[in-house]
Amino acid sequence: MTDCLFCKIIEGEIGSTTIYSDDDVVAIEDINPQAPVHLLVLPRKHIATTMDIEDDDLELMGRCLAVAKLLAKEKGIEQTGFRVVLNAGPDAGQSVYHIHYHVLGGRPMKWPPG
Ligand code: 5GP
Ligand code: ZN
Repeated sequence: MTDCLFCKIIEGEIGSTTIYSDDDVVAIEDINPQAPVHLLVLPRKHIATTMDIEDDDLELMGRCLAVAKLLAKEKGIEQTGFRVVLNAGPDAGQSVYHIHYHVLGGRPMKWPPG
């Protein structure tokens, strides 16, 4: 999608710190980290929000979670724990409408989130 920030990052038109990439999934460092580890795991396919996930995308979304797991281990937070967040829509504060999992760790998290 031409006007999507994360599509542009995936295409290399906008710079980012890429920490994982395969044919279907990309992970980058969040530009405004909210924890010592703050990664964004996103499918290369443009899916705007959770409400746009189709049955054919379920494996892809699962693969994104598998990458989150892999990177949690690489970042050394697999034992201390981490949070995987998927903001969907305005009340959740979604600001980039290309679906992405936040992976946050390296400090204790509060619950419920704000
Ligand atoms: P959302 O609010 O949609 O759940 O999350 C969007 C995330 O993208 C935010 O945490 C924000 O800091 C991050 N972000 C926004 N613009 C950029 C950018 O240009 N590069 C990177 N790496 N992250 C970005
Ligand atoms: Zn996109």
